[in-house]
Amino acid sequence: MINITPLEAWIRDRALIGHNLLNKPFLETLATYQLARVNETIKYARSNTPFYRHHLASLPTTPLSILSDIARIPFTTASNITGNPYRFSAVRQDDIARIVTLRTSGSTGEAKRLFFTEADLELTVDFFHYGMSTLVRPGQSVAILLPGESPDSVGDLLLRGLRRMDVRALVYGPVADPSHAAKAIASFGAHCIVGIPTQVLAVAQSRAGSRVGRGSIESVLLSTDYVPRAIAKTLEEVWGCRVFTHYGMTEMGLGGGVECEALDGYHLREGDLYFEVVDRETGEVCPDGAIGEVVFTTLTRSGMPLIRYKTGDIARIIPHPCPCGSVLRRMERVRGRWDGVIRLSPECTLTLSDMDESLFLLPDLLDYRVTVSTGSDEKFRLCCDVLMAEGGNLTDREVIARLSEVGAIQKALAGSILKTPSVRFSEDGRWTTTGVSKRKIVWTNSG
Ligand SMILES: [Zn+2]
Repeated sequence: MINITPLEAWIRDRALIGHNLLNKPFLETLATYQLARVNETIKYARSNTPFYRHHLASLPTTPLSILSDIARIPFTTASNITGNPYRFSAVRQDDIARIVTLRTSGSTGEAKRLFFTEADLELTVDFFHYGMSTLVRPGQSVAILLPGESPDSVGDLLLRGLRRMDVRALVYGPVADPSHAAKAIASFGAHCIVGIPTQVLAVAQSRAGSRVGRGSIESVLLSTDYVPRAIAKTLEEVWGCRVFTHYGMTEMGLGGGVECEALDGYHLREGDLYFEVVDRETGEVCPDGAIGEVVFTTLTRSGMPLIRYKTGDIARIIPHPCPCGSVLRRMERVRGRWDGVIRLSPECTLTLSDMDESLFLLPDLLDYRVTVSTGSDEKFRLCCDVLMAEGGNLTDREVIARLSEVGAIQKALAGSILKTPSVRFSEDGRWTTTGVSKRKIVWTNSG
């Protein structure tokens, strides 16, 4: 039997506060709540942030009468924030409890800053509490392989959410040494592991990873913008556990949505965030089922409200009801990012997700990085740096064979616009950095 997502009752209770809608169908209640919160957010952002005062200057001050009218409001982009994050802050600097600085690799060093108040962080703890109750029961324990050293970091907020349901947690942090992490997880006796897909995979594939024991790990939560299916499948096989995925980004207040026991798409944090999927070209809202870019509006954020923020993530709303019985909308697992796409020709679009689904099927491959460049002959070069498990036994030929099965690479090779890919193996079985940044294809023009 599949239990209904705990997010439904949580969101229902939130939506009912202050609204006399007890006898109305839930979706109607939710829409009324969200419309009120969207209008409140617009008013709040305009009065309190220099950015939105200017950005929404031409918008009438009358509230939206239906939720779909939000489509008239201009988008907010990541570069709006990068330019001057303090223009987004809606409270005095004294009232900011946490500032998260995100550096985008390869940029000129301009960082994106995000501000959260104590109240904003409390809402995230609340979401983690209810979201995690899908995976663990009171009395169980969780190993958190996410940064958690500093107060209010993601690992710390998750720990606080788990404590509220009487679940013990070990905040181990990002994985630099997979064997060491596996031993720590085993001695802690974790029932559940939360981490970044490639890092949890490295733990499972390490020698000590098998000692963690098949059956003792009941569930894994993989958290990032995009989770390769092939990694989830390997973890299910190694540990005999259920693998859930969480969707979130710092801009969402870390948590965005989490899968229910149906393991088929995220139920979203709809009490705090209003999600849309929009057409990348026209900006119009896509009907349910159509693929587009994920856009969200914060409904309860006090430190840094965001209105129609473009995430760059590619996904769609699943148009069918969830097998868990919830009426909440579901978003299909994110397929990747618009900036993770490289167009080799009009017919050949190379995506990280396509390469992931092929390469992560290789036993002993823990992670990889792909760099694409052009040579003096105008042909594309593709170099794949592979991180192999300890004692792994992969060859160039196997990696190239897998790469050549990726549709775009196959076509580009057949059309002679791409040279045969080259492969390099990392020497000591681990990356020199334990990056928690987003994975992407690197494009270089230097040839
Ligand atoms: Zn469900």
